[in-house]
Amino acid sequence: MRDLLIRSADWLVTMDDERRELCGADILVSRGLIREIGVGLDAPEAEVLDASRCLVTPGFVNTHHHLFQTLTRAVPAAQDALLFGWLKALYPIWARMGPEHMRASARLGLAELALSGCTMSSDHLYLFPNGARLEDTIEAATEIGLRFHPTRGAMSIGESDGGLPPDSLVEREAAILTDCERVIDAFHDPAEGAMVRVGLAPCSPFSVSRELMRDAAVLARDKGVRLHTHLAENDEDIAYSLAHFGCRPGQYAEDLGWTGDDVWHAHCVKLDSGEVDLFARTRTGVAHCPCSNCRLGSGIAPVRAMRDAGVPVGLGVDGSASNDAGDLIGEARQAMLLQRVARGADAMSAREMLEIATRGGAQVLGRPECGALAPGSRADIAIWNMSGVEAAGSWDPVALLLAGPRRVRDLIVNGRRVVAEGRLTTADEAEIAEEANRLARDLAE
Ligand SMILES: [Zn+2]
Repeated sequence: MRDLLIRSADWLVTMDDERRELCGADILVSRGLIREIGVGLDAPEAEVLDASRCLVTPGFVNTHHHLFQTLTRAVPAAQDALLFGWLKALYPIWARMGPEHMRASARLGLAELALSGCTMSSDHLYLFPNGARLEDTIEAATEIGLRFHPTRGAMSIGESDGGLPPDSLVEREAAILTDCERVIDAFHDPAEGAMVRVGLAPCSPFSVSRELMRDAAVLARDKGVRLHTHLAENDEDIAYSLAHFGCRPGQYAEDLGWTGDDVWHAHCVKLDSGEVDLFARTRTGVAHCPCSNCRLGSGIAPVRAMRDAGVPVGLGVDGSASNDAGDLIGEARQAMLLQRVARGADAMSAREMLEIATRGGAQVLGRPECGALAPGSRADIAIWNMSGVEAAGSWDPVALLLAGPRRVRDLIVNGRRVVAEGRLTTADEAEIAEEANRLARDLAE
């Protein structure tokens, strides 16, 4: 791959250790890494990408998603339900999916993420009907070109055992652990700069047993991979924990080995102050998913309190069955606004939100080499065109970004241009949409 010189960015937000913002700066990219940042860099052999009238940021990081849900957007029976009712409406539809649906749904979700500035995404796949496997989504991510953290999810307590999912969607726990080991051995890359890292992710405390939570934590530590699940999402979730486990979710997580800097939990809307302290003390991460929390009426996560306490916080779009969109820059705006609704206009600045969406997410996923623009960092870069009507008249383009362009102009992942001039370079957007529509219609019939 030729070196790449991103030249003359009007504004450059580095998110480096000093949080430097530069004007008229260049970035030299070589072999997937940022080699140099400065004004007037000289690189005669490099391909040049003009970034004048653009704002350049680190690529955004998505820390929670269920890519398989992209084929079940706006399902009528699930549009206006709370979490548990929403799940019960969708489980029978998801049970009809297979490998082809998983792959198509992931292509669609990842394409949408890329166009909204995302260079690295995690995914939480917790059902494997009709022969579906984790690699269906890994193949999609390899094609689209994003850095990918798939997690091997699971459900093991079906309706007949008092759980929420239908028996047809749950797996035996021994088989789950065997497949967890298989996908780690086959796909997890521990190396610096890895494009695929696998994690383990039993779905939630209300769909797997204590034993599986504990065994998954032991296996993850044995293999050196991260742990992920849903926690403290809404009031029903807290009530379930109190009724079935006799404790709050934070205690449940701590007792089973689910705290630590190798763990991140989605939502955490209902963490109390003791649980926020626990997460801060143990460096346990949080994937904040504001649109999904709004859509399901779950509440507003205490992000201000988490950040003040030192909890690592990243941003997640969550699945498209509970968000409708997989638009990461839109998610960042929603997150900023929601903290202001809860805590006042000075509760969350656009710059802090931008930090959570980039550097914060990279920290939550354990990727210190990503999330910032600095020499030696991975070249995961988003270039935003600020010359259009939606960004004109701005006195502070950095603060304006979250309300500005909805599509990235160029997206560079590990030095490779995945979006160019607002279009995916790695796949055909129209074909992705057509395939998704065809399969969604099949599921509906
Ligand atoms: Zn989720």
